[in-house]
Amino acid sequence: MTLTDDIAYLKGVGPQRAKILASEADIHTLGDLLDYLPFRYVDRSVIATVSSIREDDNFVVLKGMVSNMQTVATGKHRERLTVDLFDGSGYIQLVWFAGTKWVRERLKPNVEYLVMGHPTVFNGLWQISHPEIEPYSYIDEGARHPLMPVYSTTEKMKQNGLGTKAIARLTDTLISQFSTPNSSFSIPENLPQEILERFRLMGRQQAMTTIHYPDSREQLDQARTRLKFEELFFLQLDYQYARQQRVTRSEGRLFTHVGDHFNRFYKEKIPFPLTGAQKRVIKEMREDMRSGRQMNRLLQGDVGSGKTLVALMCMLLALDNNCQTCLMAPTEILATQHYQTFLRMLDGLDIRVELLIGSLKASEKKRIKRQLAEGEIQILIGTHALIEDDVVFRDLGFVVIDEQHRFGVEQRSKLWNKSAIPPHILVMTATPIPRTLAMTLYGDLDCSVIDELPPGRHPVRTYHRTEPRRPLVFSFLKKQIDAGRQVYFVYPLVHESEKLDLRDLYAGFDMVSSYFPRPDYQVSIVHGQLTPEEKAFEMDRFKRGITHIMVATTVIEVGVDVPNATVMVIENAERFGLSQLHQLRGRVGRGADQSYCILMTKDTLSYTSQERIRTMCSTTDGFEIAEADLRLRGPGDIQGLQQSGALDLRVASIVDDEPLVRATRDTVHDLLASDPTLARYPLLQQHIAHSKNKMLWGKIS
Ligand code: ADP
Ligand code: MG
Repeated sequence: MTLTDDIAYLKGVGPQRAKILASEADIHTLGDLLDYLPFRYVDRSVIATVSSIREDDNFVVLKGMVSNMQTVATGKHRERLTVDLFDGSGYIQLVWFAGTKWVRERLKPNVEYLVMGHPTVFNGLWQISHPEIEPYSYIDEGARHPLMPVYSTTEKMKQNGLGTKAIARLTDTLISQFSTPNSSFSIPENLPQEILERFRLMGRQQAMTTIHYPDSREQLDQARTRLKFEELFFLQLDYQYARQQRVTRSEGRLFTHVGDHFNRFYKEKIPFPLTGAQKRVIKEMREDMRSGRQMNRLLQGDVGSGKTLVALMCMLLALDNNCQTCLMAPTEILATQHYQTFLRMLDGLDIRVELLIGSLKASEKKRIKRQLAEGEIQILIGTHALIEDDVVFRDLGFVVIDEQHRFGVEQRSKLWNKSAIPPHILVMTATPIPRTLAMTLYGDLDCSVIDELPPGRHPVRTYHRTEPRRPLVFSFLKKQIDAGRQVYFVYPLVHESEKLDLRDLYAGFDMVSSYFPRPDYQVSIVHGQLTPEEKAFEMDRFKRGITHIMVATTVIEVGVDVPNATVMVIENAERFGLSQLHQLRGRVGRGADQSYCILMTKDTLSYTSQERIRTMCSTTDGFEIAEADLRLRGPGDIQGLQQSGALDLRVASIVDDEPLVRATRDTVHDLLASDPTLARYPLLQQHIAHSKNKMLWGKIS
């Protein structure tokens, strides 16, 4: 018997249930079953009474007998089954809408049942729909395990006798196989002995046994810690090993020369001194690029910290070393804005910059591609269009990817492959990433941080206001506008249909226009449905100060830079995520005047909305905001990160397990430093050999 054996052969499964396990829970082998971890434990020693249930009880365990079984037809093949459970203190109704036949045949009077589930009030009575229910005697047998595992199951599983209790029995059967003396069946250890000892970790077999059947909370915690450690450790090993391979093996371009492009730009074009952080980061990259190794660096910095400028200077360095460079942005608006910025900043330096985006005419695209291949274009800016196979560079030496979180590793490696010697790669984030995420998600990248804003920026003052105070908000805006400033109003995109969103937006526009009537005030409106020309027209009027107020959807989230705009009013602010609010706020505070951000919300807010608003009002630090965002939303909801492997964590949590993330990162680091080929660690070598196949960036290994 081994862990790769088909689950069908486990006692109590059989071909029919095996099929269900495979289709519903992705369990195919014995090992898969072991990996199907409980998501909760019920402490059977804590049995509640019906009379003591409270509204906010999420989950209760009750013990009692059933009576008054009733079936009501609710459709052609549908029925509702109810029974009353009495536990001496009161009655609670149990309800089933599916799988009723199965339940009806099994529930008997005069038998004590243990019932578990989420209590709700229906028509003034307590009820639990689809509870877990089992004869109490079974519990007695299992009393050696006071903490009972609860597995997630689907309706189909339950109907086929594969409820949480059944799964628990199956895992128990399986586990007893390797607990019997002389059994050759076991769960192999995968961490080196010295690490187990150093961190006092449970062995793998014991941990897996315990996580399904803990004897106590303490044991369960230990088992969890062990499995979390293992999970984070191997994630770090994959990333750091890949990085080490890149550093030691892959050849990088040598950018030894600092020439005219860089120097002239530095001396003639930048109207302000670089911040200390910008200088430091440029230096870090220069060192990478003349080390002979390929650079793969993440550049983090808050909105407005001057990342783009840093990227541009490194691109000029690439030009000085006779190769081409490109910048890839996630949207056409952003790519276009970068293009305009570059044209402006490089004016007079005789550098060919082009923009390649999907909406160009076919003939234009063709021309750009031809000139790119011939080497006439030095800097190419664009969207995803850049990674198309027919975009061929003559000699691509340096790649900048803006707003990395919207691109996957795969896309990164596509750019990488556009050149025989891999180009240096700089990845920029739009907003800071929480530390733990950076450590795991970008474990394969080196990281630079711009932790300083250009001087003279006043932190934006942020206020929370609700509808009753709107008149005051408007009179404040009036003062600002009369003093020569400009104002943004932003509306969220919330509806499935753009039409409804636009209706909200236009309603907002009408309201604003009625407070600020022509001809004294000019109000413009910008949204995604306008043609690029219309958008450009409105943007331009705002930039030149002809319009005082811009009412817009989040199209302005990225890409607008109007230093004279000092107020950002965000409508329905409770509907925006934190990082989006932070991005939007970053549109003001760009000039010398004090700027303001006003978050308009309805009166009553959910807990997380309140926390988001509170965070925004209390800090302007992007790193702090990123941490709060992660805490509030959990990693699964962070925009653009859903598909990322680093977030497929089963046991560990990027939010709660920062100490373990650190510990594993440092351990792996030291290990690779002292033994780069892992010669002393056959187990780890095995892991690497195995996961190499899965790694997307095959080029490295
Ligand atoms: P980011 O891309 O990090 O959001 P940008 O590079 O767009 O920031 O810079 C934001 C603004 O600050 C731009 O208008 C830029 O010209 C300006 N800027 C950049 N570096 C400095 C500096 N050292 N001193 C003053 N202004 C700067
Ligand atoms: Mg930027």
